[in-house]
Amino acid sequence: MAYDPDNIFAKILNGDIPCDKVYEDEYVLAFNDIAPQAPVHVLVIPKGQYVSIDDFGANASEAEITGFYRAVAKISQDLGLVDLGFRSIANTGEHGGQEVPHFHMHILGGGPVGPMVCA
Ligand code: 5GP
Repeated sequence: MAYDPDNIFAKILNGDIPCDKVYEDEYVLAFNDIAPQAPVHVLVIPKGQYVSIDDFGANASEAEITGFYRAVAKISQDLGLVDLGFRSIANTGEHGGQEVPHFHMHILGGGPVGPMVCA
């Protein structure tokens, strides 16, 4: 699937749409989900144009991949989620229920997030 430069997260990255920013560095932007599913619900997105986790893993540079996961670690630590735990999810494609075609990791926590769900 080709990257759609008009997707909503691309518009957040280029400043056309505002977000409630949690963290930013040269590799990622992290912001609160507009429809939180847990007391803490943050989305971490790479600044590069990648559709999905498989696109990111296959095509991103090592610096981008390292930067992304270092940021996920820093954000989860800074938000105080590590001791009691949290869930990280990357929905992918039609069967995965991905709505926004720019790779993103959901970080959910701040309380029990329940069992994994399969429809
Ligand atoms: P997906 O289903 O693609 O894994 O998740 C997309 C997420 O993006 C959803 O949890 C949805 O609430 C969130 N979202 C969609 N549009 C916006 C927006 O404009 N701003 C923010 N902060 N989150 C959004």
